[in-house]
Amino acid sequence: MRKFIIMGIQGSGKGTQAKLLAEDLTLEHFSVGDIFRWNVQHHTKLGAQVKRIIASGRLVDDDLVESVVKDRLSDHDWNYGFIIDGFPRNARQAEFFLESYDIDGVIDLHLPDEEVMRRVLARRLCSGCGLDYNLIAHRPRKPDTCDVCGSTLVARDDDNPEALAVRLAHYHEETKPLIEIFDRKEFVGTVDATKPVDEVQAAIRERFGLPAYHPS
Ligand code: AMP
Repeated sequence: MRKFIIMGIQGSGKGTQAKLLAEDLTLEHFSVGDIFRWNVQHHTKLGAQVKRIIASGRLVDDDLVESVVKDRLSDHDWNYGFIIDGFPRNARQAEFFLESYDIDGVIDLHLPDEEVMRRVLARRLCSGCGLDYNLIAHRPRKPDTCDVCGSTLVARDDDNPEALAVRLAHYHEETKPLIEIFDRKEFVGTVDATKPVDEVQAAIRERFGLPAYHPS
């Protein structure tokens, strides 16, 4: 069983890289942000609780995040392991997590701040199937339309300059210092996230001794 945390600044490609690893290595991919977005889209009680917080770029309360993570992991649908993305984001969340789960490693995607704004503001999401696009690196064939399901592409509510500034400040103040904490206890592999998706994936595999990546 393999258990990883994937960390990195907004726009560093955590979700994209986690999905590639998960599909190929039969890991479950847990994204706390995706769980929240699903709940907002489906108008659940949890969605109503977090909608405005997420849109403003602020962090959701630790107790609520921890209960979501606990619930999701308690499904035990991760026989071969998991890769968790977007969690932990501060010292309290890291403590909570490491009390309950041992992990094999922390994948740290490194992207300079100058590149973050450019990437994040170009990010689009399919309103139907949720597929990720990027107007720089992964354009849809027809403008604003999903190649797979034909639904309209939209920007995330929190991918605007104001919310991004709040999210980046949180990352630098609270999340980035966790890398040092993990580095003392767990294996942290830092990978250059400025490279194309396939190269980043190959570098992660090499760094963590995982089966080589063969893009389809
Ligand atoms: P993400 O997709 O990881 O960028 O997360 C989107 C938003 O969901 C964040 O800006 C927060 O508002 C919320 N969120 C996701 N993960 C966490 C977390 N671990 N702690 C607090 N809030 C979170």
